[in-house]
Amino acid sequence: MKTIALLGATGSIGGSALDVVARHPDRFRIGALTAHAKVDELLTLCARFRPDSAVVADMAALGALRDGLRALGLPTRALAGPQALVDVATDPANDTVIAAIVGAAGVASTLAAARAGKRLLLANKESVVLAGDLLVQAVAEGGATLLPIDSEHNAIFQCLPADGGRGGVRRLLLTASGGPFRGRPRAELAQVTPDQACAHPNWVMGRKISVDSATLMNKGLEVIEAHYLFGVPASRIEVVVHPQSVIHSLVDYVDGSVLAQLGNPDMRTALAYGLAWPERVESGVAPLDLAALGRFDFEAPDLAAFPCLSLAFRALEAGGRAPAILNAANEIAVSAFLQGRLGFLGIPDLIQACLDALPGGPAGDLAQLMDTDAEARRMAQTLIPRMTT
Ligand code: NAD
Ligand code: MG
Repeated sequence: MKTIALLGATGSIGGSALDVVARHPDRFRIGALTAHAKVDELLTLCARFRPDSAVVADMAALGALRDGLRALGLPTRALAGPQALVDVATDPANDTVIAAIVGAAGVASTLAAARAGKRLLLANKESVVLAGDLLVQAVAEGGATLLPIDSEHNAIFQCLPADGGRGGVRRLLLTASGGPFRGRPRAELAQVTPDQACAHPNWVMGRKISVDSATLMNKGLEVIEAHYLFGVPASRIEVVVHPQSVIHSLVDYVDGSVLAQLGNPDMRTALAYGLAWPERVESGVAPLDLAALGRFDFEAPDLAAFPCLSLAFRALEAGGRAPAILNAANEIAVSAFLQGRLGFLGIPDLIQACLDALPGGPAGDLAQLMDTDAEARRMAQTLIPRMTT
């Protein structure tokens, strides 16, 4: 029996994870559930999964959580604040941690779970972009088992040699759906709205990652994620647009073999894989019907319309603090776009302005990276009113 701390339980990944968990009560139980501030949703999940602990990141929501748990007659402990996220991620009672918080808000709990040697199902890609070297080090020192949940990285993990070596690997090929604006020229993107950007053709996801998919920053963050998780340089990571999102990614070997992992676009596959690895369990995902699909298409990404992908390669090649600056500026830009304070084309412009303005230099420790993150957020906020796009 595995006992799971699910960080980000009220989100899209959180819901998919709970769906898989509920299918296998003989194998998995929930030790902790966390949310940002949506107490009602968290209470509904607590009533169903009866965790030992429930956490709201927002301190102000603690009273409502405690009262709600009492009213439901549940013995679940109510906790709040960023330290409580770290506490449940490192609690010896939980052997498995699903890192499904969105954004840099997930970095401390993700690193703590790695350092505590957990089976770590990693969806929170921003923490890898922000603190990739520290995460790799924490996994090694803590003896954690890192299982990538991002579908592309889960696919690559499945296609790499099982011994963990990289012998014979020529390239990692990350597939991208192209998002809702694939095929549109740059000029047509100036006026697109948040709802249009969040209407992803193949995946239902949280709004932040949906906008990232529309700008191709999601793929850029994933290139950086792949570099850190698999130890492959940027020069050997390529992106190909595959609009059907059925081939989740591929590994190209020097002998000409290319291994791919396929499946319907549904995150429950990656989550079931991470939960049961090295075994396989049923996930609820429908079997792939290749004849019904009929065809697979591929094209090169349009970097003129979607410059975020190039910005991510630039940040990865610069190294040090640059990925942290990229991530922070992107989080601010996406949030401003969702609030109607920045145009769609302003997202890459703002990120580029932050990368240009802020000094690079070595990444340093987590405190230094968090300083860089805060500085980039301040710079991005200052620059938003000056953006013309
Ligand atoms: P979401 O917005 O649906 O859910 C985010 C979760 O994080 C919620 O439970 C929310 O309460 C919590 N949260 C938000 N801000 C927080 C804060 N400041 N402190 C603590 N908790 C906070 O997002 P999602 O789509 O589920 O994505 C989660 C992560 O997984 C992201 O990093 C995303 O890039 C990654 N991911 C998602 C998908 C997908 O299909 N949704 C696929 C691959 C990777
Ligand atoms: Mg992905």
